[in-house]
Amino acid sequence: MTTRLLIVGPQGSGKGTQGVRVAEAYGIPVVATGDIFRANIKNSTELGKKVKAITDAGNLVPDDVTGEVVSDRLSQDDAATRGFLLDGYPRNAAQVTYLDAFLGKSDAALDAVIVLDVPRDESIARISERAKIEGRSDDTEEAVAHRLDIFERETAPIIDTYAARGIVDRINGVGSLDEITERIFAALDARGLARA
Ligand code: AMP
Repeated sequence: MTTRLLIVGPQGSGKGTQGVRVAEAYGIPVVATGDIFRANIKNSTELGKKVKAITDAGNLVPDDVTGEVVSDRLSQDDAATRGFLLDGYPRNAAQVTYLDAFLGKSDAALDAVIVLDVPRDESIARISERAKIEGRSDDTEEAVAHRLDIFERETAPIIDTYAARGIVDRINGVGSLDEITERIFAALDARGLARA
């Protein structure tokens, strides 16, 4: 059983937390491009040096760089055999095209796209909480607003692309963590996607 999922939501929608829970239930790895970039920055790798200023400003890393990171990770055994939950990729139309081509090479496609709906005010409130706890260098007020703008301009439209394929589940992202997880499970169950 291979399960290929994508979770989409604005910053502060709780997609990271929910993504981990869902991936665990399906026995698949989370592939979060933001986490991969942060790990590389922390370890001062060549990739980390290349993307630090870009991520700090809340801008998108160039598509070719991000695409290579994703195809390398998705080619590893666990993701290739069991599937994966993507978090933070794709984020624009060009990345959707790239992912389609990558998966298409092995006749694969996403099974479901979970969209977490959270109002902008609530996202901003949650990120400022996170900023106090985690101290992420890209959680400045300016970078946060910029990331939300990019989400609305570039990422939200990709939801329509996936919706046209009939694979989008819109989930109300306001509620307790457990309530939201249950909503996601209910939607994926309805698609007949079996948990591990
Ligand atoms: P995230 O943890 O998903 O909020 O990502 C943190 C930062 O990493 C983003 O603000 C971007 O600078 C960069 N990043 C993550 N995923 C992508 C992507 N798919 N395309 C371009 N940049 C990305």
